[in-house]
This record gives sequence, C-alpha cells and structure tokens, in this order.
Amino acid sequence: MRLLSSFIMFSTTFALFVNVQVIAQPAKCGTIVTPEQVAKEKAKPSFGNQKSMFAPTKCFGKTLSITAHVFADSLGNYGITTVDITNSVTALNQAFAPICISFQVCNVNYIPNYKYNDFLQSADEEEVISLYSVPNTINIFYARKVERTPGNPVGGYAYFPGGPDFIALSKSSLSSIIHEMGHFFGLYHTFETQFGSELANGTNCATTGDLVCDTPADPGLGNTPAPDCNLSPYIKDANNEWYVPMIGNTMSYYSSDCECGFTPDQYNRMALNYLNSRFYLW
Ligand SMILES: [Zn+2]
Repeated sequence: MRLLSSFIMFSTTFALFVNVQVIAQPAKCGTIVTPEQVAKEKAKPSFGNQKSMFAPTKCFGKTLSITAHVFADSLGNYGITTVDITNSVTALNQAFAPICISFQVCNVNYIPNYKYNDFLQSADEEEVISLYSVPNTINIFYARKVERTPGNPVGGYAYFPGGPDFIALSKSSLSSIIHEMGHFFGLYHTFETQFGSELANGTNCATTGDLVCDTPADPGLGNTPAPDCNLSPYIKDANNEWYVPMIGNTMSYYSSDCECGFTPDQYNRMALNYLNSRFYLW
C-alpha cells in the first residue's frame, strides 16, 4: 500500500512537472527570412501580384508522406508516441483540407542517439539530414529542445520552398506542425517585416508584410497573449491608423486558443508553392 501511494505521488508529481513543462515551452517559431529569401521572393513573377495566384477552390487530392524522426533522451525514453504524432497530423489534415492536401505518417523512426534530443540547428541539422532524411518525404524531427541559436529555444522551425524537406519540432509543441507547414509551403508570419512594413489600410499589402492581402497588417507584438480572442486595436501605424491584426491566424504569434486557421489567399499561396516548388513530394 505504501508502495502504491508512493507511486501515485510520484505519478502526480511527474504529471504536474510535465504540465508545467508544456506551459513553459515557448511557442516562438525559429523560421527566419534571410536576405536571400527576400531576393528570391522578389524575383518571382507573382511578386506583388495577388491576382496571379489561381482560384482558391483548387483541390489537389494529394496525400504527402511524412517521415517522423524522434530522438531519445539519455535514458532511452522518447517522450512522445506514434499516437501523439498521428493525432497532431489529424489536426494538420483538417487545416489543409480546403486545398485537398493531406499528410500521412509513413514511418516513425525512433533514433536512440540522445545527443540530438537537445537540437541545435548549427550543430545538428546537416548531420541528421544526411543520416536520416528520406528523400521526397517531409522529414519532421522531434527533439526535447529545438534551438537555432544557443539559449533561444523555439517551438520549431522550417524552410521555405526550395529549402530542404525538413521541419524541426519541439516535443512539447506538437501542434506547431500546422504553423511550420505553413512556412514549408511559403507562408510568412503575419508580422513579417523583411519585405517592409505593411500599412493598416492595406494599400501596400502585396509587397510588404507577409505578402498576403487578406491577412491584415500585424504589428507583431511578440507573444502578447489575447486570451479573449478579441484584442481591440491598440497601436497605430505610420499613417496614424489603428492596426487590427487577425488574432487567430495560424501564422500570427497570438494566443493559440484563438485559432482560426489560414485565409483564402494564404491557401492560394501555399497551393502555388506546392505546384511550383514542392511538387516532387510523394
Ligand atoms: Zn513561424
């Protein structure tokens, strides 16, 4: 009996610890827009021309393969299960249903080498890609901690079309898979400024911000939570006009409790990028 109650106490303590870990994990994203990416985007014939994107009703009827790679910790524990991964992919499929792209986990590759479980982009990425990546599939690597720069953990990061078929995800941010897949198919953060600052009135929406016109300008106040999903305008742009960002957009940084997914133009953009740059995926 004493043993049992000790076990229950241990389990409860452990469960609390796990919960705290999940809450404490930053939802920040490590996907970055480099000057090369800006140049590449600006060279596209579609740059600045929203009309060059085809109709939002385009339906691909395509199922893409995901190879999931899970790193063990030093005790040989993986921390997440195949069911955890497939559940997150079910949510991903719902998010991509409007363009009839779905994802299937073809293989879960459990990797005992625990040195990658604290994953640092500069040290580990090239190595794991060459060791484990399965060509023509979307390779998602799950680690306890994901960092692009030491000391700055992120929920995950991905590469834009033309980059490797690689996504890194923190095991405590499995739901970030939808956001990172957005980047993978060419979406930028709604608060992106590498192309210039989008005005609240939207007049420069096609060439600034996230280059998408049906996502309003977003001042990008970091992880500012909006628990009521009803953040009122609180900051003005260069024209002295109020920003009214789309709090629930998947590519914003606001509270994940307010998910309202992708907009039609974001779907168009992802569809176009799939056709032009990620068409080779199985
Ligand atoms: Zn992101």
